[in-house]
Amino acid sequence: MIPGPRATIDLQALTHNLQISRKHTPHSKQLAVIKANAYGHGLLQVAEALKDADALAVARLPEAIQLRESGIDKTIVLLEGVITKDELKQAQEYELELVVHHQDQLALLEQLTGEALIIWLKVDSGMHRLGILPEDTKHIYARLDKCQSVKQIRLMTHLANADDRNDSYTDRQCDQFKQAIAGLNGETSIANSAGIVGWPDSHADWARPGIMLYGASPLMGVTANELELKPVMTLTSNLIAVNAYRKGDAIGYGSSWICPEDMQVGVVAIGYGDGYPRHAQSGTPVLIKDQKCETVGRVSMDMLCVDLRHCPAAKVGDAVTLWGKDLPVEDISNKAGTISYELFCRLTSRVEFVYQDS
Ligand SMILES: *Cc1c(COP(=O)(O)O)cnc(C)c1O
Repeated sequence: MIPGPRATIDLQALTHNLQISRKHTPHSKQLAVIKANAYGHGLLQVAEALKDADALAVARLPEAIQLRESGIDKTIVLLEGVITKDELKQAQEYELELVVHHQDQLALLEQLTGEALIIWLKVDSGMHRLGILPEDTKHIYARLDKCQSVKQIRLMTHLANADDRNDSYTDRQCDQFKQAIAGLNGETSIANSAGIVGWPDSHADWARPGIMLYGASPLMGVTANELELKPVMTLTSNLIAVNAYRKGDAIGYGSSWICPEDMQVGVVAIGYGDGYPRHAQSGTPVLIKDQKCETVGRVSMDMLCVDLRHCPAAKVGDAVTLWGKDLPVEDISNKAGTISYELFCRLTSRVEFVYQDS
């Protein structure tokens, strides 16, 4: 049987990429970000493979509970924190560390009894999404410091533009953060992947690598390969038809691509119903037996078409790589007007996941 859409996950590449993060930030602990099902790679498998991480971070409580109930006893940080008393109780019960980004969360902590928690106080240094104002930092810190329910305070912020190494906004954010926390005790954290590889000033006590762990580049205009990152996910499927068409024949919905000459067109069993981006334009690369070919016409729900002029020997059943090893995911996300993060996260349950440890 032809295997169909499959994501092969290389767990050694994952641990290699964590080492690359350490290499950039030798004085920082690694808070490995595995939110959103480990960027679509599989929460538990990734958590288990990242034994060398100092701690794990997820966005929401259910993700953390899933990890705990599967026996993961490593430190887990909830990046969005909690907003209700019930959630706070659960976070305490599951021994999670919490981000506090709003005064309302502080009020909940002030009423909490029982086991004390480690809190990551998030300062908004310019992202303007989550975080307390820089000028409120000292008094909120002082209130947290008085809470019976808080045993340690860490200080963090998040960078908005670090993927662009020419954007000095990142320097301003680092300065803003450092000013806001001047004189306060506690370990600090600023850098996401882009900060780790692009902005030494952001390294601090804890680095928070996300996308780089999965082997995609966090910087605009710099390839993953140049950063020595290895792709973790390789998405493949198979050719299910090879057809000959005439010059002038239109391919697929909307007849958006016209054969410029008599030619063969292959049909690959993968489409937006599997998570392959429908917006990938004609000309998006795929690999058939190490030969680069290009998509033609619109991506359908279950299929996409490819120009076989560079791959005359292609036949039904041949494996096709959509991204991953030998085909950087950025080459596809650029053609689809999105980022690698979204492509990884959007694979659907139709895709079979296979985990490899060597
Ligand atoms: C997702 C996230 C990260 C990781 O970002 P990458 O760009 O994937 O490295 C780090 N910190 C916070 C707060 C995040 O939400």
